[in-house]
Amino acid sequence: MVDANLDGLRKTFNNGNVVAVDSIDLHIEEGEFIVLVGPSGCGKSTTLRCIAGLETPNDGKIEFGGHDVTELPPKDRAVSMVFQNYALYPSMTVYENMEFGLKMRGADRETIDERVRWAAGIMEIGDLLDRYPNQLSGGQQQRVALGRAIVREPAIFLLDEPLSNLDAKLRSVMRTEIQELQRKLDVATVFVTHDQEEAMTMGDRIAVMNAGRIEQVDPPEVIYHEPNSLFVADFIGSPEINFFESTFDGSDTVDTGAFGFDVPSEVATELSSGLDGRDLVVGIRPEDISLAPLGEGVIDTEIQVLEPMGDTQILYFDIGDSRIRAVVPSAQPIGENDKVGLSVNWENVHFFRPDGPSVVKWRKATDEGVNTDQELRTDQRAGNQ
Ligand code: ATP
Repeated sequence: MVDANLDGLRKTFNNGNVVAVDSIDLHIEEGEFIVLVGPSGCGKSTTLRCIAGLETPNDGKIEFGGHDVTELPPKDRAVSMVFQNYALYPSMTVYENMEFGLKMRGADRETIDERVRWAAGIMEIGDLLDRYPNQLSGGQQQRVALGRAIVREPAIFLLDEPLSNLDAKLRSVMRTEIQELQRKLDVATVFVTHDQEEAMTMGDRIAVMNAGRIEQVDPPEVIYHEPNSLFVADFIGSPEINFFESTFDGSDTVDTGAFGFDVPSEVATELSSGLDGRDLVVGIRPEDISLAPLGEGVIDTEIQVLEPMGDTQILYFDIGDSRIRAVVPSAQPIGENDKVGLSVNWENVHFFRPDGPSVVKWRKATDEGVNTDQELRTDQRAGNQ
């Protein structure tokens, strides 16, 4: 069991014109499952390829178990990598694909056979060993690719979008299988995806990347409930968080343009010290907006679109210039074009600086569980619905 450490990792392409990875620090504990998530082009694959030794960083250090491996070629690092397209050799049987790495390393026949059958047993592909890749379904090919990766007992396990070629149902089955496999192997693992839902369900910790940098590394629930920036709040969560470009008057009132609300003194203090001027962005997750009788919420508005999701429904409203989303139980008998009031679960509201960093979350400032209902004043503005 080893840990892995990235220290100031930087990788550029095209003579420095493309900065793919920009000074990344990341520690992956022994046995930990880290998910690198972020939009296309943010540097996830390049980071993974640097760890594998497939790219040489321009700067920074990579250590496995305290040993500097930055200059080592891939074959001398105890890493196994699974690729998005599986990268199986088409002219080799499943068995031959799985034994290939060990054979190249000169392992003896008995060891090879034992390891291949062990990995095939774990991946439940023992009956496919004589088939060729083109005789397998996508899910079976993925199992073979995983089996091939674990045959050699890697110290570090790397997976680059391994599920993106599978249909939704199989993807969710394979998610669980990879998690179980990772627990079984108990090996430091880095899993790359652009799918925030995959990241939320799989990682011990999630590293959210943006433009070559890591914005936040934390367990999924912290990333979701305490995002440290507008970017993280926006990227994680489906449907996405609602943002209101707002102003704070320096005393106790936040004005979103469409409605105003008072904040408790603890929140006001944080806003006064954390903001650079009056402007701020208020972030409200869709599940923190609920329906209220007309005139009794923070604002009355009209349901523009209703999307049934099974036990919940997503409602879309136009408030000011923004399209706002709410997730409510489907038992509520409502329909498109209905006029409704909206209430907000204020304790879960986030406040950000317009340039990105989080200033404060309401509940954090008021020390969990304090009832702030009395402090609310709604200030609905006509004509802004
Ligand atoms: P995706 O989710 O689309 O795979 P990613 O987050 O994995 O994206 P990378 O593939 O790491 O992103 O790419 C990061 C940046 O580096 C992008 O701007 C990409 O165009 C650039 N890049 C990656 N590899 C090369 C290369 N070999 N030559 C030039 N630019 C490259």
